[in-house]
Amino acid sequence: MDGEETRSEKPRRDVPRRDRRGLALVMAGASGVGKGTIREEAVPRMGDVAFSVSATTRPRRPGETDGLQYRFLSEAAFRETIAAGGFLEWAEYVGDLYGTPRAPVDAALAAGRDVLLEIDLAGARQVAAALPEAVLVFVAPPSLAELERRLRGRGTDDAAKIAKRLARAREEIRATGEFDYVIVNDRLDDAVEDFLAIVRAERLRASRLTEADVAAFLREGDA
Ligand code: 5GP
Repeated sequence: MDGEETRSEKPRRDVPRRDRRGLALVMAGASGVGKGTIREEAVPRMGDVAFSVSATTRPRRPGETDGLQYRFLSEAAFRETIAAGGFLEWAEYVGDLYGTPRAPVDAALAAGRDVLLEIDLAGARQVAAALPEAVLVFVAPPSLAELERRLRGRGTDDAAKIAKRLARAREEIRATGEFDYVIVNDRLDDAVEDFLAIVRAERLRASRLTEADVAAFLREGDA
């Protein structure tokens, strides 16, 4: 059965871990599809979660602050970080470079904190290879026509850049089968609820139990 095959690709552990590792949550999907908005609505309702601030060489947009939405780097600084192995993943996207700084993600996961990464398809594939337990969520637009309308409405890109982003979106949408979950961002509230439901279920996986959890379940009364 297909479902069985997919499931057996996920690493399984039958023995509880000594320490809890954080969950790596990857949200991918075309630029303009609303990943950032879903994240802004969902994060305050997710409890403790670290957001991975990506580095990029693309120019800052009005309203963006260095270190908040992105670390804005020169191409030279970005390439130095690649050479030093400082990125968990990186990719070129429509003429600019984007990457996930490795150290904050490693530190959060090791401390048992969940981490949310908002990246493109190429990046999601690299994270899946580096962290097989990562949960990959794809955010799809209701249609390419609707995505185009949103990209134009955002007014941050010229026509040529929008055409490139749409071409890239078409490629990404064809790869939805590589993901664990797909959310359609039609109504924002529904998309946020869907994302929160995924996070909640993933946090409840038996494979995330620690030895201490199991010991607590086994505790019996003194009598
Ligand atoms: P934007 O320029 O619209 O902020 O982002 C363009 C695309 O780059 C989006 O699909 C966004 O998710 C992706 N992106 C943002 N940060 C990263 C990153 O660290 N790594 C990768 N691979 N893609 C990223």
